[in-house]
Amino acid sequence: MATQFLEMPDQNGYFGEYGGQVIPPELKAIMDEINDSYDKVRQTEEFQAQLQGLYTDYVGRPSPIYFAKRLTELQGGARIFLKREDLNHTGAHKINHCLGEALLAKHMGKTKVLAETGAGQHGVALATACALVGIECEIHMGEIDIKKEHPNVTKMKILGCKLVPVTRGTKTLKDAVDSAFEEYVKDPINFFYAIGSVVGPHPFPRMVRDFQTIVGTEAREQFQGKEGRLPDYAMACVGGGSNAIGLFTAFLGDEEVQLIGVEPAGKGLDTADHAATLTLGSKGALHGFECYNLQDEEGQPLPVYSIASGLDYPGVGPQHCYLKDIERVQYKTIDDKECLDAFMKLSRLEGIIPALESAHAVAYAMKLAQELSADKAILINLSGRGDKDADFVAEYLSL
Ligand SMILES: *Cc1c(COP(=O)(O)O)cnc(C)c1O
Repeated sequence: MATQFLEMPDQNGYFGEYGGQVIPPELKAIMDEINDSYDKVRQTEEFQAQLQGLYTDYVGRPSPIYFAKRLTELQGGARIFLKREDLNHTGAHKINHCLGEALLAKHMGKTKVLAETGAGQHGVALATACALVGIECEIHMGEIDIKKEHPNVTKMKILGCKLVPVTRGTKTLKDAVDSAFEEYVKDPINFFYAIGSVVGPHPFPRMVRDFQTIVGTEAREQFQGKEGRLPDYAMACVGGGSNAIGLFTAFLGDEEVQLIGVEPAGKGLDTADHAATLTLGSKGALHGFECYNLQDEEGQPLPVYSIASGLDYPGVGPQHCYLKDIERVQYKTIDDKECLDAFMKLSRLEGIIPALESAHAVAYAMKLAQELSADKAILINLSGRGDKDADFVAEYLSL
């Protein structure tokens, strides 16, 4: 059953009715070439050995699984375990796919890797991977975000990437996407657009997923080694969905393991300020692929919001849309307040400051644990650390 899921998407990049390539024919040819190169390159021992070597010696994999004893005791009920992606070099799961993408670009003989970034997390992970692999990197970022995310901007500069400030429109992520894309289409034969999650046109949802499956593959084996069985629940936060699919893939064939994706309810599902795409969205096309969308009546993406900037995206990875429809994964929501509560509890009970994104999964696990008996186990993908959020939270809570 697990292999059946791994064989997805189909040749045209569809997971059921989601995914595909909703792009002009010229770009479709380029995407197909990336898909073919990826298929060839990833089979080679050289590529496998290179990527595995970097995961081990550079990222610090395998990341441990940690039993959160004090958090479990506070909640009462099911035991809570954390897959510690926060301990990776650069502090989150994103390095797993950025290394894969940078290596692939290098193997394909591309001259420049391009991307947009919002809060700067994807930008820093990609700039890191490009510095390591030795390929030029150009990141487009809205001027407002540049002012807000100073530490990440500084890191990108130190890492040697070219940072392009975007001054048009809202001067935030949406315009940064447009700006980076315009640069990309100037020379898509020599440039490589590195997408930051399991979104965008085929083959990106598949490629980024494949690079992230290391998380679940390790976690499944580690959990079995520790506990002699599988967890009852595995859960992760969902923005575009890369850390979640990375954890879920290894468990898809294990029917006894319930999978839960956690979306941001922001200021409430009854307000406009959330990004609960799978919970409240409808089907449509966005950024070159079909998925659930938060869109207006004309099909334009709605402004979305979350206290965790890595989760505020109006679409979601096509495989998640499919897994929702066939009911293999359940998607739930956590609001800003619950997220902040989990952020503080994990910090003060375990000495682990989580990313605000990851704190959404922690918050849902805390709620669920209370309803379950002590013989049950919940495994959370702790996708990143909260250094980037510490100042914001301290100010927000007047600490
Ligand atoms: C970017 C980010 C996310 C959201 O991205 P996904 O593709 O949904 O995983 C989650 N957690 C952290 C720490 C991030 O940096």
